[in-house]
Amino acid sequence: MPQVTVINHPLIQHKLTLMRRVETSTAKFRSLMTEVSMLLAYEVTRDLPLKYDTIKTPMAAMQAPVLAADKKLVVVSIMRAGQGILDGILQLIPSARVGHVGLYRDPTTLVPIEYYFKVPHDIEERDMLVVDPMMATGNSAVAAVQRLKQTNPKSIKFLCLLAAPEGLAHFHDQHPDVPIYTAAIDEKLDAHGYIIPGLGDAGDRLFGTK
Ligand code: URA
Repeated sequence: MPQVTVINHPLIQHKLTLMRRVETSTAKFRSLMTEVSMLLAYEVTRDLPLKYDTIKTPMAAMQAPVLAADKKLVVVSIMRAGQGILDGILQLIPSARVGHVGLYRDPTTLVPIEYYFKVPHDIEERDMLVVDPMMATGNSAVAAVQRLKQTNPKSIKFLCLLAAPEGLAHFHDQHPDVPIYTAAIDEKLDAHGYIIPGLGDAGDRLFGTK
C-alpha cells in the first residue's frame, strides 16, 4: 500500500516490544508511549519546510535554519488513547496547536460515535497530523478523518503505533489521499476488533483503567 510507511527504527521497535509485554506497568507504558511518539514524530516531520533567520552566535552572524511553520502544525488527538502520542509530540514541537476528536466504539456494532470535537479556528492554514495509537478496524480513524476533512486543513497525515491489515485496507479505501505512518503492522483482528498480537487496550494501559 503506497500510502503506508512503517517506521522500523531499532529504538522504536525495542520500545514497542516493551509496551506489548503484559507485565509492563502503567507508568512504564506511559513513558514508553511518550518516547516512541517522539521518535515517530521525528520521522513524520521529516519534510517540514525550513526558512533561514539571521542570528548571532557568540562568534559570528549567520543564516540559520528554523522551522518555517512550526505554529502552523495542528496535532489532532483521537481521544482518549491519542493523548499518549500527543504528549510525546508536544515535547518535540511545543508550539504546535492541538485539536481533539472524541469517538467511542459501540461495543456491539464497533461503529464510532462522536461525543467531542474541537480544533483551532484557523485550521485552513494548517498541516494536520491525526494521532491514535491503534488502527484496528480503522472505523474511528476513518470517521475522525472524514469529520476533520470538513474543516479543510492544508494537508492531513495519520500517525499510529500499531495497525491491523484490515484497518489499513479500510482506511486506505476511504481516504486514499491520507498517508499513514505506523511502527508496525500486526497479524489480524480478533472477533472484538482487538489487534492480535497487539498490546491490549491502549487507553486502559495508558491510564491504568483496567
Ligand atoms: N484499540 C485498542 O486500544 N487496542 C486494540 O487492540 C484495538 C483497538
